Amino acid sequence: MGLLEVKHVNKSFGGLKALTDVNLDVAQGSVHAIIGPNGAGKSTLLNTLIAKLAPDTGSVTFDGRPLVGMTPHEINQVGVSRVFQTPEIFGELTLLENVMIPAFARRDGAFGLHAWNQVMREGAIREKAMALLAELKLDGKSHVEARHLSRGDKRRLELAMCLVQEPKLLLLDEPTAGMSRADTNRTIDILKEIAGRGLTMVVIEHDMHVVFSLADRISVLAQGAIIAEDLPENIKGNPKVQEAYLGG
Ligand code: ADP
Ligand code: MG
Repeated sequence: MGLLEVKHVNKSFGGLKALTDVNLDVAQGSVHAIIGPNGAGKSTLLNTLIAKLAPDTGSVTFDGRPLVGMTPHEINQVGVSRVFQTPEIFGELTLLENVMIPAFARRDGAFGLHAWNQVMREGAIREKAMALLAELKLDGKSHVEARHLSRGDKRRLELAMCLVQEPKLLLLDEPTAGMSRADTNRTIDILKEIAGRGLTMVVIEHDMHVVFSLADRISVLAQGAIIAEDLPENIKGNPKVQEAYLGG
């Protein structure tokens, strides 16, 4: 049984069928990529995984629990974290502060001035945040205000803000979009390292270099349906996949 299971999900927007009988089985500890041409339904599928959209029919189960109907906070509490769209960076705060805040929010689910005072005393969270910044090669900038970061550094900061919450499943929405080749490669290396520690990931990505560097398995969406699901080496030569990309 997969950590994340999507079964027979259908979703329409008015007369448009965005997802048709979509099934997805993400094994614990694996990196599962979802690829497909523009308009294929990738974002719609991702939104059902974080309960932002309810499927018309079908189920989404994480760790044995149905996700449909949960609030974003509940989704976060059960251990599902979405990167590169969710966390807003606080530009006026330092990198260290930015990483400490979500660690604290995960615990108490609320954040206020009182909480802020506590955060500043939280030696353990501070240490954890510093260790993560080091892992993401951002420790040299821990006391820099986040607004001064480059785009690539900002995205790595967002990743640190997710990881500090110790998710069980990380959903990555085009993790290297808009990055330079050098930044893309650095991000791939970091994600590989994180995957190597056994964190389960679902990655939506256009960049085939990223997909084939990272994924253990790939599902291909075209016009709302999964047309192939296989190992990366088998996806490359799959005629149905080539047709979907060339025809799309
Ligand atoms: P992708 O992320 O693969 O590019 P999307 O999931 O964004 O594809 O979109 C799939 C289809 O559903 C597209 O035809 C898109 O226009 C349509 N769609 C997505 N969201 C909505 C919405 N909120 N209302 C109406 N149509 C939508
Ligand atoms: Mg999309």
